[in-house]
Amino acid sequence: MPAASATPPRPEFSPGSRIAVLLPLPLAGPYDYRVGAEPVAAGDFVRVPLGKREAVGVVWGAGGGDVAPDRLRAIAGRMEAAAPLPDPLRALIDWVAAYTLAPPGAVLKMAMSVPAALEPVRGPLLCHLADSAPPELRPSAARARVLDCAARLPPLTATDLARESGVSPGVVSGLIKAGALVVAPSALPPPVPIPDALRPGPSLSPDQAKAATALAQSLNGGFSVTLLDGVTGSGKTEVYFEAVAAALAAGRQVLVLLPEIALSTQWLDRFAARFGCPPSEWHSELSDARRRDTWRAVASGRASVVVGARSALFLPFPDLGLIVVDEEHDGAFKQEDGVCYHARDMAVVRARLGGIPVVLASATPALETVTNVQAGRYRKLVLPDRHAGATLPAIATIDLRRHPPPRGRWLSPGLVAALTETVAAGEQAMLYLNRRGYAPLTLCRVCGFRLRCPNCTAWLVEHRGAGRLICHHCGYAVRRPDSCPECGSEEGFTACGPGVERVAEEASLLFPDLRQAVMTSDTCGGPTAAAALVGAMAEGRLDLLVGTQIVAKGYHFPRLTLVGIVDADLGLEGGDLRAAERTFQLLSQVSGRAGRAERPGRVLLQTWQPDHPVMRALVAGDRDGFMEREAEMRRAALMPPFGRLAALILSGPEPDPLDDFARKMARAAPPAAGIDVLGPAPAPLALLRGRHRRRFLVKAERGVPLQAWLRDWLGRIVPTGGIRVQVDVDPTGFQ
Ligand code: ADP
Ligand code: ZN
Ligand code: ZN
Repeated sequence: MPAASATPPRPEFSPGSRIAVLLPLPLAGPYDYRVGAEPVAAGDFVRVPLGKREAVGVVWGAGGGDVAPDRLRAIAGRMEAAAPLPDPLRALIDWVAAYTLAPPGAVLKMAMSVPAALEPVRGPLLCHLADSAPPELRPSAARARVLDCAARLPPLTATDLARESGVSPGVVSGLIKAGALVVAPSALPPPVPIPDALRPGPSLSPDQAKAATALAQSLNGGFSVTLLDGVTGSGKTEVYFEAVAAALAAGRQVLVLLPEIALSTQWLDRFAARFGCPPSEWHSELSDARRRDTWRAVASGRASVVVGARSALFLPFPDLGLIVVDEEHDGAFKQEDGVCYHARDMAVVRARLGGIPVVLASATPALETVTNVQAGRYRKLVLPDRHAGATLPAIATIDLRRHPPPRGRWLSPGLVAALTETVAAGEQAMLYLNRRGYAPLTLCRVCGFRLRCPNCTAWLVEHRGAGRLICHHCGYAVRRPDSCPECGSEEGFTACGPGVERVAEEASLLFPDLRQAVMTSDTCGGPTAAAALVGAMAEGRLDLLVGTQIVAKGYHFPRLTLVGIVDADLGLEGGDLRAAERTFQLLSQVSGRAGRAERPGRVLLQTWQPDHPVMRALVAGDRDGFMEREAEMRRAALMPPFGRLAALILSGPEPDPLDDFARKMARAAPPAAGIDVLGPAPAPLALLRGRHRRRFLVKAERGVPLQAWLRDWLGRIVPTGGIRVQVDVDPTGFQ
């Protein structure tokens, strides 16, 4: 690995010296310790005493605390097997902590999410068939089954072997004692396939080739940010694959961040087709063992390409050469609990700290990114056309004021006619509604009582398939009650409004012969179920897909020609700063699924507000004009990215003490020029998981040291009585 040679040597600390060790705990900062008999270096993982127990932390630098030398405790030892945490990652952890106001140890915890990866590689004990069966073995049916499994299957642990053979663990241990099975540790970490950078990619169009060359060249230029701005289906993935190939050819590691990696089977297939093997994956759906193996493979440099969710940013790459953030506008890159950070922005920071290029790819870049391009901070490469002469879909609105669906239905006559035509032509259609379940609201027919979550400010959403009313915020679930909790009436309840299940029900009433499926995080939470649905759609085994926003995730369905947006206005409700921008992006992405191959596509937007700027821009294909007007409004209001925001969410078990605390906090806010504190006000989710919530919004002019001011404020008042204060710098949602 050329890694070590490129970076200056890590500072070493000799025996007896005072060092700072950062622990993966929400403490204010690193703790001081004394180096033992062996020297250690910054980045080393070490075991240290902490109270009465031992904890594992990372040598952060020279110690500087005020613990008296005689009270300083010695570190217990170095984790010999673990490669040190690379410098740029330590710098990133400090940076993220300072920016988000999270305790540095809480950020370190994200980089140490699999503690087992720090232990020496000790494979599990696996059972193998002995070379020859012991002569005095007493036969039994159970024993025969075990021996048969051991012969057929790859080596398994004793527990797994017993389970596979359907016998009790005693049978397996009996065979081990008798010498019919031998156990041996599997000594090596599992091999990581090596992507082949030299395999030829597709032949690129002139625009694609130009962009690919520019990206590949950026690999030699140190830190840079490039927006790869291309319409849906223009081949952005193929283009950045060329940069990936170039980084691999130079022997560097590559990180690709995708918003929903668990749903990205098509992406994984394309990577494998291009590079001959799958990349290493990193996301929460993986087993602990796989995460442990991947963490080690990254740390040792054996994993050359990692594709992951936002947390992959905190993997210990010793020699990262390129970062790609695909669908960079996607809200999934923002983490809103624990450490509140935006993975796209922190990817840019990671690239700067590592002196490497980062590529942001999108057909609908975020206003932040567009603004950075205009200011000359980011470079832009454009792919203006769809690949192979495919055209962008024609987008039209259906004015629900003039052409509403029949009572109790959700598909207007125009959309139904379009569906009929599409199906008759042997093509596929997609209906999009960003709402899970059957109906978002259930009310009593007699008194109008609405069924709501006892723990949250939210209605219970009916999921008819599951036979439950479910809270989408906390997961609370109940059967539909037999009588109204308010008036006692047994008349029953009315389902109000549609969710995808209800739209699917309507579609199957209208088109009983259609092969249709519903795609939501309920019906395909896991990668396997999602892959099955996506495969069925891509291969033409489905006629109609009804889904939530997960259908918008970059899929390529060649036969899909009609996209119907059931409720284009849905995302515009509420006072969210980014409501219009996000709706535009989401609807563009969903629309971008139509007509990606030979047959042209069309999109129908059902809306009550066909004159809304979002609808007009979608119909006119005027993304840049729309973004320009968004920018003007935000500039005038000094809202991000032209001003800065931070949200403080105060939460507590009881409303009154919480309100008291919120008022005290408001009074404690230090005055400062260029900073406005709005609130306290009930948070949009005033009750969440049983906790009451109040919110401050802090608005700051650009250039005002917002973090320092926030730190000052938070230092002036200490919450008590179970009250918590969560800081969200650059909030993107309004939770
Ligand atoms: P985007 O990411 O911009 O939406 P994709 O990279 O998914 O676009 O490309 C859309 C489709 O066109 C994919 O099926 C891709 O394999 C194909 N494609 C793009 N460029 C080429 C090319 N140069 N040669 C062959 N196929 C291509
Ligand atoms: Zn009632
Ligand atoms: Zn709830």
